[in-house]
Amino acid sequence: MNASRIYFLPRLIAFLALTLTAMNAIARIQIAAHGNAACVIVTQPGATAAERHAASELALALEQITGAKFETRELAQGAPESAIVIGPGSLAAKLFPEVELSGFGGEEFIIRTKGQRLLLAGGRPRGTLYAVYRFLQDELGVRYFAPWTSHFPKRASLSVDSLDRRGKPAFEYRDPFWFPAFDGDWAARNFSVSQTARLKEHHGGQMVYKGFVHTFYPLVPADPHFKTHPEWFSLLKGKRVGEGAQLCTTDPQLRDFMVERVKAWLRESPNANIVSVSQNDHFNPCECPRCAAVDEREGSHAGSLLELVNYVSEKIEPEFPNVLVDTLAYQYTRKAPKTIRPRRNVIIRLCSIECNFAKPLEDPSNELFARDIRDWQRLTDRLYIWDYTTDFGHYVMPFPNYFVLGPNARFFHRNGVVGLFEQGAYQSFGGEMSELRAWVLARLLWNPYQDDRELIREFVEGYYGKPSAPFILDHLKLISQAAQPYYIGIFHPDANPYLRFPTLSKAEQLWQRAEDAARGNPDHLWRVRQSRLSVDYVWLSQWAGLQRECRTLGKTWPINSSRKAYAAQWLATVNEPGPAGWSPITHLRESGQPPAEFVAQFSDDPAESFYATPPRSRIKSTVPEDLAESDRRTGISVQDDRAIIFREPDRSRLVADPLASDGVAIRMTAGPGSARGAMEIHTASLPRSFRPGRYQVYYVVRVETAENPPAEASAFQCRVFDASAAKNVADRMVKVSETVPGYRSYLAGTVELNAYSRIWLGHAHHQAVKSVSLDRVFLIPVQ
Ligand SMILES: [Zn+2]
Repeated sequence: MNASRIYFLPRLIAFLALTLTAMNAIARIQIAAHGNAACVIVTQPGATAAERHAASELALALEQITGAKFETRELAQGAPESAIVIGPGSLAAKLFPEVELSGFGGEEFIIRTKGQRLLLAGGRPRGTLYAVYRFLQDELGVRYFAPWTSHFPKRASLSVDSLDRRGKPAFEYRDPFWFPAFDGDWAARNFSVSQTARLKEHHGGQMVYKGFVHTFYPLVPADPHFKTHPEWFSLLKGKRVGEGAQLCTTDPQLRDFMVERVKAWLRESPNANIVSVSQNDHFNPCECPRCAAVDEREGSHAGSLLELVNYVSEKIEPEFPNVLVDTLAYQYTRKAPKTIRPRRNVIIRLCSIECNFAKPLEDPSNELFARDIRDWQRLTDRLYIWDYTTDFGHYVMPFPNYFVLGPNARFFHRNGVVGLFEQGAYQSFGGEMSELRAWVLARLLWNPYQDDRELIREFVEGYYGKPSAPFILDHLKLISQAAQPYYIGIFHPDANPYLRFPTLSKAEQLWQRAEDAARGNPDHLWRVRQSRLSVDYVWLSQWAGLQRECRTLGKTWPINSSRKAYAAQWLATVNEPGPAGWSPITHLRESGQPPAEFVAQFSDDPAESFYATPPRSRIKSTVPEDLAESDRRTGISVQDDRAIIFREPDRSRLVADPLASDGVAIRMTAGPGSARGAMEIHTASLPRSFRPGRYQVYYVVRVETAENPPAEASAFQCRVFDASAAKNVADRMVKVSETVPGYRSYLAGTVELNAYSRIWLGHAHHQAVKSVSLDRVFLIPVQ
């Protein structure tokens, strides 16, 4: 057993002990009998809005379950023999003197029976509300799946065993940041404290940030301060820079100015629990000798950042003793410093943005992140996480992280994390599996040690109905499995490696069966049809490439062969009326593409010639002739059919090319705007003879130019990206002057290729370059 396990074990045991249900099998408490209420709900004088709301939520749910109307009475003393007592107060103290409610934490609750009475109470502001919701969910099986659908198990007679249970949530900050989770009632019922959720006082309030994130420039705007104090801003290559960069965090005057700004922010936001003093969403930390010396000593740019944040947190503490200062450990500050420790009132919010979400964070592909979280945990007990749970370039596209949500929540908790922000599709309804992820995440944020696969099954059965559930569960497994060989980040280009024809055609069948199975229930049918839009979205956005794969595989096209009609149907389904509280998707991606704009690109049906795939000839030469004899013997030839083709067919397409080794090449062109042809080969798609190791990476390319192109014009760019290290390990721009007529092998670099390398090439976007054709990639192992 390693040291970290020994450390985590007591936390786990403490947590389990806290939520342990002790069942003393004495009398059962009757709540309803044959559709009639068998007890009254009692509130007490001085109850908070949240405690009164807890009583009405209980009455509402009990009525849903039993059909009975429950009376709620406010009493200071003398409760009936059969009563459910809500919240702390004089009556609770008298009836349950052994429960010291004044010692409860703000989210801590108790569920306790005595005689025919049940106490549902807790600390303020949210403990009593949480006692009611935990009672309804854990003891009576109530589920609040989505703002428009809850589940109440029907029972005309209802009783509970004797109960004695005390608990609190595993994480102090719980933000399942998905659009459906912003409904105030849903959020309270599912224990979210998100500041984005519409949580009111009667919901027990929420966590309130002042300046949520990336606050350097909002706190110290370049206009007007750059003019008078350029030394407050990042020094980059000897020059002070006031945009797209950071601040000079070691400047003494800047620090004092920052203190005053933060105090001013907090004075205008008296409700804030947390103030953000965090780096901008750029790189470019200050390189001045003073900042550089701190970062050198600490082995991380987090060093100079933390010096500032600690300073601010110390100076504001006397006036704002209850406010925490939040900063990011993000991108260039993700690595923990060696010696400096965050002050006790500082939150470190570590961001998982570079991670592989096809696999849990414990997977070796995420070992750098695992190292960082362990290092931070040693420095602070206020570690929060900013986690990512969707593809921000395609909210609607199937994203294969369903089965890593649970393992990751447990991983965070075991590593000392006390707050979790789970960023998903947050700008409108309609994100792929939005409601599922919001609900499952909310459950895990309360207690990560639940069986997450069971939670997913429960949601799918509850939300889509049992007849459809097996097909949808199979779909989730299918997508997750298809993604396993790849490193799945949170921004894919238009084509991605795990949603190819064989997977999508299986997904299509599963959703058709799910839809057929839901026909008897209009609510279920609507939910299935809305969720199915994610697969349809991939068919549409990848139409040409999927058609090509279908034809190459000799399969039958499984959907409407008219792209135009298919797109129109997709848009109609997007805009189908839904339940109260729901509205159609407005953002297909974080940068905000509305569905109608997406569909507008499919207003024509392409001619048959559009789909023509050139036949491959027998490979003429197994090796590029311009390479040395010895290299040609050891190299691995990687043909273009292993590539993912971007912007197909407008900017890239397979063409017949007699000069190419197999008679076929990927031809890439540049268009208006930023659109350019490109392709990528993942190492998971390489021939079986490939082994991770060091390679010379050659691209065999032919460039066609307009007459007399400028010699300095760039022809194409080739780079090798190491996803697990989140960096390019080779990056070469090839100029027109370096090219020759016909195919030639261009060396991008000599690099380590591992399981998650991506070999990419793109047109350089110069109008003088008519086309760039890739015959293949050639890898030569290096000792
Ligand atoms: Zn500096």
